[in-house]
Amino acid sequence: MDTQMLIGATLVRGTETEESIFNPRTGEIITTLPEASLTQVEAAVTAAEKAFALWSRTTPAARSGYLLKLADRIEAQAETLAGLEALNCGKPGPLALNDELPAIVDCFRFFAGAVRCMTGPIAGEYLEGHTSMIRRDPIGIVASIAPWNYPLMMMAWKIAPAIAAGNTVVFKPSEQTPLTALAMAKIFADVLPEGVVNIILGRGETVGSALINHPKVAMISLTGDIATGRKILDAANKTIKRTHLELGGKAPVIVMEDADIDATVEGLRAFGFYNSGQDCTAACRIYAQASVYDDFVGKLTDAVSQIEYANPDDSLNEMGPLISLRQRDRVASFVARAREANHIEVTTGGDIPDGDGFFYKPTVVAGALQTDEIVRREVFGPVVSVTRFADAEEAITWANDSDYGLASSVWTKNVSTGMQIASRLQYGCTWVNTHFMLTNEMPHGGMKQSGYGKDMSSYALEDYSVVRHVMVAH
Ligand code: NAD
Repeated sequence: MDTQMLIGATLVRGTETEESIFNPRTGEIITTLPEASLTQVEAAVTAAEKAFALWSRTTPAARSGYLLKLADRIEAQAETLAGLEALNCGKPGPLALNDELPAIVDCFRFFAGAVRCMTGPIAGEYLEGHTSMIRRDPIGIVASIAPWNYPLMMMAWKIAPAIAAGNTVVFKPSEQTPLTALAMAKIFADVLPEGVVNIILGRGETVGSALINHPKVAMISLTGDIATGRKILDAANKTIKRTHLELGGKAPVIVMEDADIDATVEGLRAFGFYNSGQDCTAACRIYAQASVYDDFVGKLTDAVSQIEYANPDDSLNEMGPLISLRQRDRVASFVARAREANHIEVTTGGDIPDGDGFFYKPTVVAGALQTDEIVRREVFGPVVSVTRFADAEEAITWANDSDYGLASSVWTKNVSTGMQIASRLQYGCTWVNTHFMLTNEMPHGGMKQSGYGKDMSSYALEDYSVVRHVMVAH
């Protein structure tokens, strides 16, 4: 197992406090890893600064070549990387290998191509005797800060577009899930010129804070909690850094009475519980129309109660444990508080199964009202709520009645109903008759307190670059 960070061309261990890294499936400690010192943070920023002078002047074709090489290396080591991701996050191994790794490889390949046809550059005469040119240039050193739920995927989403656009990066994984980042440190060290990507470990309040407050960092990219997003904005305030924030979510799911109920239930079984519901787009806040509500809740309860989550044969598991004891307790406390209301029924799950690890049973909380905490706050666990609605107007109002604005879905056999509702939902993404599906060509990002800035797609290249005007008098 790799234990070294990457600073410039050097693979090196941190020198400060040791952090325990857990296997959420067993609750055992896998290893302990030291965090970076403030001197090492400084060295990483200096290495990124030095590299920026050269990397920002390479051609898109040259950068594209590096990204393609990275993709090949990740693909060649897919089994190892997926194994580490499964070990550190508790993801079922086959899902990490077959669902996530191909999307991560494709992310690097996508940006390798996209950077060669980046939009923007134009030239023309808008004042007599002057030619104007629009350039898209890199921004500088990007501090990238990632969460624990998809450690490798978030690393790909942040690093691929940033370096494709000519920036250099200092990346900090979550202190809970650094193992794949350390494996990637070696790959970056082998493939890229020194300092283009630097990886440092540590907690948010120490290493993260030193990094985001560094005056030479030009941009901060965070995927994380809203509270952390606010701290990023405070830090950005001092030197007016650009920010890219992907924060939480509480995705509404509108099930219309004309939906194919069986297909909807199958979809939500998958999209509400993938990654144990620890997903900012998880299909967790379900609204079902009154005329189909009972049928829907009955079928959803049956389907969710059959989810495999702690089978010793990992190839059968649809779901793993939660990331930590703390997260499991947090999820359990949400359900316990919801249960106190007379109108709520926990139709399946709702407790901690026997055995080791940080598991929580896949849970359906039915009869929830719009005002209930379980409907309003992000649980980030294998728990979906179901609320009864009368008509589309009510469903749209309730769906939009949230501080979050990341993802949403509507389920109906009527395309026109789907399109009308989709056009009125205040979310960065709305799916019709599906949920959760992403593709590297299309943008992912939020509205409202879910943040702003787009991951994936050519929009990410725009976020990680700056439009400049050059005017030549002649
Ligand atoms: P978190 O905000 O606690 O941590 C995210 C990262 O920020 C970690 O690396 C952490 O060390 C760092 N951090 C914390 N405090 C910091 C500080 N003061 N300065 C600098 N860095 C700091 O979030 P988490 O618990 O790791 O992840 C779960 C959250 O992430 C959920 O709210 C979830 O919705 C959100 N999320 C959003 C998306 C999206 O695309 N919008 C995707 C995945 C997760």
